[in-house]
Amino acid sequence: RVKERGKAHYQFYRTEMNSVFTNVVTLETHLRKAIDKSELSLYYQPQVNTATGEVKNFEALLRWKDREFGDISPSNFIPLAEDTGLIISIGYWVIENACRQIKTWNALGYNDIHVAINISPKQFQHPNLVQFIQSMIKKYTIQASSLGIEITESAMNDTKETIPILRKVKELGISISVDDFGTGYSSLNYIKRFPIDILKIDQSFIRDILVDEKDAAITSTIIHLGKSLGLEVVAEGVENLKQVEFLSKAQCYKIQGFYYSKPLPADEIEQQFLAKNMLKQ
Ligand code: C2E
Ligand code: MG
Ligand code: MG
Ligand code: MG
Repeated sequence: RVKERGKAHYQFYRTEMNSVFTNVVTLETHLRKAIDKSELSLYYQPQVNTATGEVKNFEALLRWKDREFGDISPSNFIPLAEDTGLIISIGYWVIENACRQIKTWNALGYNDIHVAINISPKQFQHPNLVQFIQSMIKKYTIQASSLGIEITESAMNDTKETIPILRKVKELGISISVDDFGTGYSSLNYIKRFPIDILKIDQSFIRDILVDEKDAAITSTIIHLGKSLGLEVVAEGVENLKQVEFLSKAQCYKIQGFYYSKPLPADEIEQQFLAKNMLKQ
């Protein structure tokens, strides 16, 4: 499972990864060099608006291909990056490269697009985050409204720091999504007070939506809640048509998941979505 973070993942890379890397230190050493060796890349997963058929929203997802060990999943190296502080430089790399990609797509005539990047809790609390994002928007001369951030509920627990950061992000015109919504602790309290735009229903609720009445009820309730509060609601981890139909009936029309597409390199996104979708202006 992609979802379970923190301790569970730490445990995972300490045990499973040991069969590949002799120890966590080896993995860390490799990760430290990954940026310089150009082993990181961003893939993009589309979100389909099932009401209009449009595809303008994409989530940037980090990929690491180590020369020796091959593809390593973010679920494995992000927790390590968090623990070691490497997430700060990796996070900057992600922000810059997402901005550069937006510029590239703009230059090809695709202006009405939106790319969301994942910001980990540690990076979110880092003092230079907003300034850095702002400087990248300037450097690549892109519109802030083509950029979004995704943060989990765990990044939002320190409310004294959190609200001013979120306000600054929002003032720039960048959208704010709560990722993996429903898996944290203080959901109702903070969605009332925090300036967020989008709820992303965690894929653990979507997975069994058709067979588990509780998951179905929770999903419908989140959709209703979002709607009532004027928030957009996105379902992630949607893998089949029956799930899409359930979500349409429940009035959720923003869908992300393998049913439409797995995350893809930028050039494949162009061919398969941007060109066909005729977002050129
Ligand atoms: P996330 O942000 O919740 O991203 C969604 C994850 O679900 C992605 O896994 C995506 O490939 C996967 N997914 C999408 N559709 C489906 C589906 O239909 N079925 C299933 N089973 N899975 C689906 P991925 O790319 O392995 O990333 C895992 C997590 O790693 C992300 O979860 C996010 O928390 C973190 N991550 C990825 N890229 C970054 C990054 O650039 N920065 C930070 N801080 N974290 C990242
Ligand atoms: Mg996640
Ligand atoms: Mg995400
Ligand atoms: Mg998620």
